[in-house]
Amino acid sequence: MVDLATVLSANLPAAIAWAEAQSQLVLNTGAPLTESGVADAKAVGVAQPERIRVLVVPHMPLPDDAALRAIALDTGLLGPDAIGLTLGHTIFIVEGHESRQLLTHECRHVHQYETAGSIAAFLPVYFQQLVTVGYYDAPFEVDAREHEID
Ligand SMILES: [Zn+2]
Repeated sequence: MVDLATVLSANLPAAIAWAEAQSQLVLNTGAPLTESGVADAKAVGVAQPERIRVLVVPHMPLPDDAALRAIALDTGLLGPDAIGLTLGHTIFIVEGHESRQLLTHECRHVHQYETAGSIAAFLPVYFQQLVTVGYYDAPFEVDAREHEID
């Protein structure tokens, strides 16, 4: 079996570059939060909710690069069950899953990115959590679930 941690560290710069490019895409094409969305984002700790852009997509974006795609699927980040993805101030939501609960969950991830300072600073910590305790128990995921608003 391939060691995910090893594969990850070798591909981390490429993963960050992909995430930054995807984020840029959503900054240019996504929608800003509604007024109530801004209020919810503030409630879960987002400092700059006006910067957030949301893009509803038919399915999650997947990297073209085979190694990156394998990482995305093996970590569960972009697997078939993935319905939301936050990269910096940008949020992908899979069509049909738009909800206040999911949006506040993803906004809490925005707060985590703001605290880390950048996508390049956040992702290594997040990946480290994923490979050590798994997606569900990753501290960033636990924290996001605790801040969901129904
Ligand atoms: Zn999450």
